[in-house]
Amino acid sequence: MTTIHSLGFPRIGKNRELKFALEQYWRGEINAESLEATGQELRVQHWQIQKNAGLDYVSVGDFAYYDQMLNHIQLLGCEPNRFDFTEQVPELNRYFTLARGVANEAASCCSGHTPDNQGTWALEMTKWFDTNYHYLVPEFTADTHFKLNSSRLFDEVAEAQALGHKVKASLIGPLTFLYLGKEKTASFDRLDLMEQLIPVYGEILFKLKKMGVEWVQIDEPILCLDLPVEWKAAYEPVYNRLNAAGIKLLLATYFGALEDNLVLTCNLPVAGLHIDAVRASQQINHVIDRLAHYKVLSLGVIDGRNIWRADLDQALAAVEIARARLGERLWLAPSCSLQHVPVDLSAETALDDELRSWLAFAVQKLEELGALKVAIDQSVASAEHAFSASRTAATSRRQSTRVHNSDVTDRIASLPTDADQRRSHFKNRQILQRSRFKLPLFPTTSIGSFPQTKEIRAARAAYKRNELTADGYTKAMQAEIELSVNKQIQLGLDVLVHGEAERNDMVEYFGEQLDGFAFTQNGWVQSYGSRCVKPPIIFGDVSRPKAMTVTWTSFAQSLTSQPMKGMLTGPVTILQWSFVRNDQPRSSTALQIALAIRDEVVDLEQANIGIIQIDEPAIREGLPLRRADWKAYLAWAGRAFRISASGVSDETQIHTHMCYSEFNDILPAIASLDADVITIETSRSDMELLRGFGDFNYPNEIGPGVYDIHSPRIPTTEEMVRLLKKAAEVIPAENLWVNPDCGLKTRGWPETEAALANMVAAAKALR
Ligand code: GLN
Ligand code: ZN
Repeated sequence: MTTIHSLGFPRIGKNRELKFALEQYWRGEINAESLEATGQELRVQHWQIQKNAGLDYVSVGDFAYYDQMLNHIQLLGCEPNRFDFTEQVPELNRYFTLARGVANEAASCCSGHTPDNQGTWALEMTKWFDTNYHYLVPEFTADTHFKLNSSRLFDEVAEAQALGHKVKASLIGPLTFLYLGKEKTASFDRLDLMEQLIPVYGEILFKLKKMGVEWVQIDEPILCLDLPVEWKAAYEPVYNRLNAAGIKLLLATYFGALEDNLVLTCNLPVAGLHIDAVRASQQINHVIDRLAHYKVLSLGVIDGRNIWRADLDQALAAVEIARARLGERLWLAPSCSLQHVPVDLSAETALDDELRSWLAFAVQKLEELGALKVAIDQSVASAEHAFSASRTAATSRRQSTRVHNSDVTDRIASLPTDADQRRSHFKNRQILQRSRFKLPLFPTTSIGSFPQTKEIRAARAAYKRNELTADGYTKAMQAEIELSVNKQIQLGLDVLVHGEAERNDMVEYFGEQLDGFAFTQNGWVQSYGSRCVKPPIIFGDVSRPKAMTVTWTSFAQSLTSQPMKGMLTGPVTILQWSFVRNDQPRSSTALQIALAIRDEVVDLEQANIGIIQIDEPAIREGLPLRRADWKAYLAWAGRAFRISASGVSDETQIHTHMCYSEFNDILPAIASLDADVITIETSRSDMELLRGFGDFNYPNEIGPGVYDIHSPRIPTTEEMVRLLKKAAEVIPAENLWVNPDCGLKTRGWPETEAALANMVAAAKALR
């Protein structure tokens, strides 16, 4: 018999029950017992779903009230000393303090940001590999001590066992746990903590064994990264010692290929190995070649990172070769935890039948696994229903005219090779743009959005519910645009924006107007804590039926003779924050989006909008996990951006914005985007990160953010003057712009106005 299992199930709940319970708890509307009751209900449901799908084990250890790394910080007893918890503080209170700090959670404007807190700041948050999920970063110092300090995992195991489930417990492996943490004191290596950490893992494994758990999945996804030699070398001794606990370990790797870590991984003394067979099917046979005869191999054949229905015939064919070699030692699973896909497709009643037939969310993915098991252990005929649905979907996707649009493919085929180049060199453009706009030295601008007030959200909601007419909605948004434009004029800003009042989200807004995109009603995926995102689904060739932003921008421009900056989201960011097609390379989809944005840029220029910003906050997070793949990625991503930006004349000024500034390793690629102006986040690094641009002799203009928009604090003129002086030490003053770190949509008007007034004063002081 083939064993099937899952690496993890989304915990947020089919209707985001966990999110709502958490937020009620944080607001003091429900107590801890009632939050715990919701958590338990969700686990019970999720285990039942796994059982119904025919899984041989249910997963325990994938549930978390906020984050799985945070669960491990408590399990392993390494809450940082700076929180200074007294004995009396209950575990759950400590948990949320670690996650959210002592003051309340500051809003995070964009994906990739660490919310900033007053008081005891929360643990830092960062992206989990190349997903849009954020984990809390463990902090390590030379004094870090570990001890088994939470019974939560064991309680959950007992809970599942009491329901009669066969349990596979899951843990984040010790090397991955340490690797993903940060050293908080100098001249200390967190790997030195391993000696202390192993006994605690040993204790956990021993306890699980005593509870009758047969298998423990131990996640070591860092084995799919480029690892420093010391880390590679640590694997064998660590696993030799963990193996001594006498429980079966299933070492789980995912998000890529093992490559240079393949031999090392295959030789580790564990009872089983899981590999990602979706992103790296080429490694299957190499792994089997190296696998000792007693080990099981779990193949992750169902895509845990995307929402497409599997092609079961294809999956079966791939698996059958492995089955012939491994017999019953073959296990099957999704490629990674299903926490990266929405819960249940059956909630999507608004999608048309055809499109829905192409998709599979977490529940459906487990059913696919069940069908594969039946096909292998019995016959395809016994799983005929699932296989024929999969076949029909694959054929209709291949042939559908909704997917394939020859106008798009023809346009791409005939795209001139220099379509990604501006007409002349930046130096020439700069002269033309300077004489066109006649901006003062240290020109001031903002990043695009202004406060998304209650009124704006209420108007949008009313419009969606048909309680406000299209005309009424337009009028309401125009009023907001006018308000923001007038405020900017009063504040004395040089380059204005319309304020993005009409945008719910910087990707959704464009996706809704582009062909080739679909939207779910309930396709939520956890981003961090209670925050969920609902990524659009790019299912077909992308094209732009009509202009998307010109009316709003022109309206804003009609209110002033000052330059009004058009505001667009770039192709790489739209790609990165969506579920994308798996029937063509990401680069092809990026290029299609780029052409749609290019058309918008050209239309804006035609409408006399002389400055256009194309936001690309996600370029950096799109970097592949392995350095060897960076070059190719940066080449197509950069070209996509340039394609979107290069349809205009030299006098039109293209801006881009990125909400981070750690560019050091990709500066040449950033410079090659050739945006006339780039605005970046720098205030929190005290301008230090701008040095890289200076050392690199970054050629074009830069607006290093002079204040942090994540905090309601109002920066003083003096501190911004100081930051700008620092910036002028590394970048020629005539190339500097003055702007906040990012958009202001999460802020309120009073603090926004006060901060911008000081910012304008700082720029004036320097002129
Ligand atoms: N223009 C967007 C805004 O100001 C940029 C957001 C972002 O960088 N994520 O909101
Ligand atoms: Zn930003």
